Amino acid sequence: MPQSLTIHLPCNLLDAIYAGARKLYPRESFLLLRGKKSKGVISITDLVLAPFAVHNEGEVHFNPYMFTGDFSLVGTVHSHPSGNISPSHVDLNYFFGRVLMIVGYPYSGNDCIAAYDSNGDRISLEITAPLKCDDDDFY
Ligand SMILES: [Zn+2]
Repeated sequence: MPQSLTIHLPCNLLDAIYAGARKLYPRESFLLLRGKKSKGVISITDLVLAPFAVHNEGEVHFNPYMFTGDFSLVGTVHSHPSGNISPSHVDLNYFFGRVLMIVGYPYSGNDCIAAYDSNGDRISLEITAPLKCDDDDFY
């Protein structure tokens, strides 16, 4: 049995993802996720702007080879202005890292975001307490 995976996303990072997606609406936003994995939990710690992301009304592309060697990058998040939070075929073809997160319009609450693995299967996502800076042990 493959180990099941849970994503922990601090609520302030979720707010930042939503804020960026709203700003770019009706275009897609695209960010890289930085995080730590331990015992089946990936804790997202940071959002990183992708330098080669192209924002338009179609799909978003970037060059993942820019990031080979940065093992703290655990995946990507992008927005679907349509509000549909299912991954497209293109999303799965461009899968990078361990987790694909999609946020859907109207970008609020806990139901406008979903996380998927490279097979397109949904991963459980928990919105956690806000991440405090310079504090590794806030639980
Ligand atoms: Zn997409």
